[in-house]
Amino acid sequence: MSQVQTVRGPVESAELGRTYMHEHIFVLSADVQANYPQEWGDEDARVADAVQKLNELAASGVRSIVDPTVIGLGRYIPRVQRIAEQVPDLNIVVATGCYTYDDVPFFFHHRGPALEAVLGEPVPDPMVDLFVGDITDGIAGTGVRAGMLKCAIDSQGLTAGVERVMRAVSKAHRQTGVPITLHTHPGSQQGLAAQRVLEDEGVDPRHVVLGHSGDTTDADHLAQLADAGFVLGMDRFGLNLETTFEARADVVVEMCRRGYAGQLVLAHDTSCYIDWLAPGLREFIPQWHYLHIQQEVLPYLREHGVTDEQIETMLVANPRRVLETVAPY
Ligand SMILES: [Zn+2]
Repeated sequence: MSQVQTVRGPVESAELGRTYMHEHIFVLSADVQANYPQEWGDEDARVADAVQKLNELAASGVRSIVDPTVIGLGRYIPRVQRIAEQVPDLNIVVATGCYTYDDVPFFFHHRGPALEAVLGEPVPDPMVDLFVGDITDGIAGTGVRAGMLKCAIDSQGLTAGVERVMRAVSKAHRQTGVPITLHTHPGSQQGLAAQRVLEDEGVDPRHVVLGHSGDTTDADHLAQLADAGFVLGMDRFGLNLETTFEARADVVVEMCRRGYAGQLVLAHDTSCYIDWLAPGLREFIPQWHYLHIQQEVLPYLREHGVTDEQIETMLVANPRRVLETVAPY
C-alpha cells in the first residue's frame, strides 16, 4: 500500500479512483490581486463557486484531482483547504515548484547558483530545500503536504531560469520520490530538451508527466517521448484555441491504437477562475470546464475505438501509479 498526500491528509493510492492529473482551482497573479482585487471580488462568493463546481466534478465520478498551482501561479493553500473541507468526495493533491518560461522569480536571482560566479564554488539552490520542505513538512504552516513537483518549459526553450528550476525540481524529486509534472510545449518539441536535463539529473522518466502533450497532433513525437518512458499529459481538453476538440481527442485515439494507453493521463487544465483572461474571454472557450471530459471526450473516444478498459487505465491506473511516491534514489 502506498499513501498519497492530499489537502485533507494522506489517502491510500488505491482510493484515488478516477483522477484528473492537471486541474487548477484558482490561477492568480498574486501581486496584482493584492493591489487590484476588484475583479476577484467577494472571497466568499469565489470559494462558494469553486465548492459548487468541484462538487459537480465529484458527482460526475471523478474522485481526485492534482492542482499544479505553484509559485508563479498564485498558490494559496489556506483557501484551497477551506474549499476542500466543503468538497468531501474529491481528493485534491497540491504541488510545489515554480512556474516560469524564462527567468527565475527575482526572489531567487541573487541566491544559490547565481552566486557561483562571484564565490567561485558551487552553491546549492535554495529552491531545492523549499520544495522538499513543502513535501516533507507541509506548506507555509498549513500542514498540507505537496504530492507533486512542477516546473515548465515553453517555446522559449531551455533558458537559464527554466533549466535552474528544472534541476531544482529534479533534485527535490530524487530526495523525496514525489513525481514531477512538467509543462511542455510539444509544438516545438521541448520535451526533448527537458529529457536531456532530467537525464543529466538522473530522473527516471516514468515519474514525470509531460504536460500539455495533447497540444500537438504529432503522434510520432509523442510516441518517441513515451518510448523514452515518460507519461504524457493529454490535459488541456476544452482549451481549443489553437486546436480543436477533434484534434485533441483524435491524438488520444491514435496513441491508444498504437498501444500507449498505459502512459496517458487526462485532464482539462481548467480552473474556477484565472485572472489571465479578460472578462468575457471564457465565452469563446465554452468547453473549458471540469465536466467536458465526462460529457464529451469519453463518448467520442469510445465511438472511435478506445475501450472502457483503456479509459480506466488512463483515468485510474496511470494516475495511481504516477502519484505513488517512490523511495528516494
Ligand atoms: Zn496548468
